[in-house]
Amino acid sequence: MTNPTNTTGDAPVPRPARARTESQVVRDLLPFLKPYSGRIALALAMVLIGKFANLIVPLVLKRLVDGLSVHPTMLVLPVALLIAYGASRLSVTLFTELRQVVFARVMARVSRRVTLQVFRHLHALSLKFHLARRTGGVARDVERGGSAISDLLDWTLYTILPTIIEVAMVTGVLVWQYDWGFAGITLATLVAYTVFTFSITEWRTRYYRASVEADTRANERAVDSLINYETVKYFGNEEHEATRYDENLIHLENASVKARKTLAVLNLGQSAIVALGVTAMMWRAAAGVVAGRMTVGDMVLVNAYLLQLSAPLNLLGMMYREVKQAFTNLERLFGLLDERQDVQDRPDAQPLSARQPRVAFENVQFGYDARRTILQGISFEIPPGGTVAVVGHSGSGKSTLARLLYRFYDVDSGRIVVSDERGDLHDIRDYTQASVRGAIAIVPQDTVLFNDTIYYNILYGRPSATREEVEEAARAAHIHDLIVSLPDGYVSEVGERGLKLSGGEKQRVAIARALLKNPAILIFDEATSALDSKSEKAIQSELDRIAVGRTTLVIAHRLSTVMDADAILVMDAGRIVERGSHDVLLAHGGAYAQMWRLQQREEERLRNAATADA
Ligand code: ATP
Repeated sequence: MTNPTNTTGDAPVPRPARARTESQVVRDLLPFLKPYSGRIALALAMVLIGKFANLIVPLVLKRLVDGLSVHPTMLVLPVALLIAYGASRLSVTLFTELRQVVFARVMARVSRRVTLQVFRHLHALSLKFHLARRTGGVARDVERGGSAISDLLDWTLYTILPTIIEVAMVTGVLVWQYDWGFAGITLATLVAYTVFTFSITEWRTRYYRASVEADTRANERAVDSLINYETVKYFGNEEHEATRYDENLIHLENASVKARKTLAVLNLGQSAIVALGVTAMMWRAAAGVVAGRMTVGDMVLVNAYLLQLSAPLNLLGMMYREVKQAFTNLERLFGLLDERQDVQDRPDAQPLSARQPRVAFENVQFGYDARRTILQGISFEIPPGGTVAVVGHSGSGKSTLARLLYRFYDVDSGRIVVSDERGDLHDIRDYTQASVRGAIAIVPQDTVLFNDTIYYNILYGRPSATREEVEEAARAAHIHDLIVSLPDGYVSEVGERGLKLSGGEKQRVAIARALLKNPAILIFDEATSALDSKSEKAIQSELDRIAVGRTTLVIAHRLSTVMDADAILVMDAGRIVERGSHDVLLAHGGAYAQMWRLQQREEERLRNAATADA
């Protein structure tokens, strides 16, 4: 594995990828919002109309109260005013709800589009990123980021902005109806409140960030531990896992407590400022009534405005916090989008289409890490429709050949060429990655299945295949009979990563889905290693049959499975040390001949043991 602290060529996954300023986050978000600018504006208009109705309510109320207090004996109900009062109250709710209706789709759609883009991007990233990431953490970041978008829009565009407009309108009415005194107190309260809220929230953000970070870490740890459930049990390490998880939870606990404590400071301070402002206003209004400068209706009006303003004001701190949190979450989400694709299509990349391509490695040098070379100048060729087998010690770089052919990584020097329809050889970097991968099917060393049905897992080889084709592939892989004998047949669930199937069954599902893909190039990476010798023989002949006419790379441990290959390459420490047909290599009497003798002796020993047992 890569060293996460190294500073050379092999970059670890940075997290968060790059600190963004808030304006950068907004800039990244704007393209997603643009298509909905009409709806966004309409929703904003609804909010503003609602706020305007809100402004009218206290004015009507004042008229009502004054009307009733000037002619208390007449007892004539000011019907028009009452209706206006009711209507304006209703419109407040009406427009608020209308705004929700208009905007709901935008929020949901934008969240969906951004999350989908991140998901696509994650799949487009190279294997290097995925080997270094932790699933739980990435999933958490995507989930939080997705909801942060709607939070951000909801809070800024439809809450904070309208509140500011409302405050301005109320101040205007107060100045128009009375004098600058009331407006002055309102504005002073507001300024004090805002400055206090913003500065305290700014200070608090670091604690929130820390708690998000701790939450992500804890989730990563939990997911990793649960994924490895079996290993945990094999070693009886439940306590060890719990302790490691708890280490993360302790960080989370401390960070959350700090976040909570600082929240209390914020809330207390905000309430104190609002209380001071409200008291000053009411004081002034009451004094005005006593002095005869103001009517009772005026006092009711001032009070109503105060109540109206204090509700969103009390929310302002929360809004600011939410916005800050949404920015933090979005920063992480867009951070994922910043992750660079190591392997990219060239701008002029062409699709590869060939039925029986020639594949050649030309002096390929490669290392996963700049500090360790794995392949040291590998050259070989698989003729069109031919089969080349690679054997050698564990870790000599055999599977690496398959990964390079799939273009999970680019070679450091040399090149891999594949011929096109006309037989012309091109570097695989000149083809699109999708077409190269589309032309290859692999039966990998370790088959990991999706937690779905057997049918789904086979169909995955070619999602457009028919039921008959799936069954045919299963028959060819010698797994059809087993599947139909299961209680649920093809719709049997395979469990997390396919754990409900045996190693051999999983391998046969992998063979079936590779067959279904019907590729031009086949790779068997120890495709039968999990099978017993009897099943191996049965499947081997099937594999040999399907390899006919396809350009095939076979990686094998058991030499008896590759005797018929056109050429056999013996690898050792990233080099090809011998090459030739089975007979030539045996006659040569080198490493291959030695491996062959060892394996033959071993097989003989097993056969004798089996006869003795019988
Ligand atoms: P086996 O027969 O055991 O499957 P192999 O010959 O197929 O072995 P490879 O999987 O090609 O071996 O690995 C070659 C070397 O590259 C090994 O030493 C391995 O540790 C290293 N290696 C493989 N994948 C990575 C990776 N993603 N990052 C760093 N090193 C890696």
